[in-house]
Amino acid sequence: MTVSTYPTLVMKFGGTSVGTPEAMHQTAKIVRDNLSAWPRIVVVTSALSGITDLLIKSAIAATRGDVFTFQDTARILTERHEAIITSGMIHPARQDAIRESVQALIQDFSNLCLAISVLGEATPRAMDAVASLGERLAVRLLAGAIDSLGAPAEYIEATRLIQTDAHHQAAHPDMAATKNAIHAVLSPLLERGIVPVVTGFIGATPEGATTTLGRGGSDYTAAILGALLPSDEVWIWTDVDGVMSADPRIVPHAATIEQLTYREVSELAFAGAKVLHPKTIRPVIEAGIGLRVLNTFNPAHVGTRLVSELPVLGQKVVKSVTTIRGLKLVTLEGRGMLGVPGVAARTFAAIASTGASVSLISQASSEQAICFAVPAEVIQQVISAVQLAFRDEFENKDIDRVWASEEVVIVTVVGEGMRSTPGVAGKVFSALGDQKINVIAIAQGSSEVSISFIIASQDAVAAVRVLHDLVIR
Ligand code: ADP
Ligand code: ASP
Ligand code: MG
Repeated sequence: MTVSTYPTLVMKFGGTSVGTPEAMHQTAKIVRDNLSAWPRIVVVTSALSGITDLLIKSAIAATRGDVFTFQDTARILTERHEAIITSGMIHPARQDAIRESVQALIQDFSNLCLAISVLGEATPRAMDAVASLGERLAVRLLAGAIDSLGAPAEYIEATRLIQTDAHHQAAHPDMAATKNAIHAVLSPLLERGIVPVVTGFIGATPEGATTTLGRGGSDYTAAILGALLPSDEVWIWTDVDGVMSADPRIVPHAATIEQLTYREVSELAFAGAKVLHPKTIRPVIEAGIGLRVLNTFNPAHVGTRLVSELPVLGQKVVKSVTTIRGLKLVTLEGRGMLGVPGVAARTFAAIASTGASVSLISQASSEQAICFAVPAEVIQQVISAVQLAFRDEFENKDIDRVWASEEVVIVTVVGEGMRSTPGVAGKVFSALGDQKINVIAIAQGSSEVSISFIIASQDAVAAVRVLHDLVIR
């Protein structure tokens, strides 16, 4: 197998970057314009903005026997994709073929939803078949748009590239099999000067069933392809000027962080900063590949570059503030808990049995209570699982009760400098105290690159704004 000596770049475009005719055109131009510096470019695209949500919502409605929602969605799918086909950016000679294959996929969508409505249920496998359609539609348009600008491009469905296990909706890639497929499918195209335009978010089992990598997973697709090609760099194109000091929707004056370490960005991604999918970072670090986050709508902006190390001096101590919303805090408490063996381990085994992921854990040193945060939508399953696991202890009154809070938010402040700067936690908590924001629980990231704490949902915006002031200082 020959490794190319030509510079290779993977560029991933998010939903807003392909969501309208103007955006798709801009995206196609970015690809074409970068070909002079990067002779080998692999493009990864998400579905048009909002489409994956619509697909999933329609399939769920179909499980209730609702056959109208998916018909409405089919109409929207046609309108949104047709608007791009006829916008003038796709060469007239190519339009009919693209339209035909778009229509065939929309028909598949309707057939799948009809089948779901008849069965009255959607298996995770069926949900993946539906959810994958957005990316499968998008690649056809984007490849057509790039090609029409004079840069030969071909769409590729990642079901041919990314082999995964059968863990539908959060599938795990088999890197060895994927590497072989990438070399077999992408290398010949790249050698002929063709830009492969690959579906983000999806893969397939060895048996050929379509899987998805988890919501927001197109970033992960780009990282997998980048690591296995291997490429020199992976650029994530989105709708903001890179990774910022806070979500600009919450803090309008949030600023771009031009350089960030992999550790910092991992903490941010895991702590809810939607700009990068948390799984993106590991393959890129392991392969030693450059990673950048850029704005499709402001391509002249430098965006963010991720680096392995940064000098501590001259860096901000706190760099960014982020939140995870929609959680509830579960507390398990009882005066007899001190004598109960393995409470934490048994609690987490019980939660794991529900498939829910735990975002934060804290145990009082008195060992009379343990509390953890889980997504609000799984709260009932989690509480039932914990009650079942400690049935005997509840009966003996060693454990008194397990209960869920109102909705809460985890707020995380991130910055490598916190490790060597005493008193950051103090500043964080006094800033919150000044605003009369009550901190319900605290956890410090083991890496000391972040501090996370839980507050009531209604305090989230105020907390992010006041902590963002610590970034600017
Ligand atoms: P894409 O569709 O391009 O993948 P996403 O919506 O998944 O885009 O992620 C980009 C969004 O992430 C931005 O529009 C922004 O609102 C949000 N975001 C949250 N936290 C941050 C942050 N710290 N920096 C930049 N963007 C953030
Ligand atoms: N389209 C998918 C989603 O909405 C994947 C992505 O956008 O990264 O989750
Ligand atoms: Mg995203």
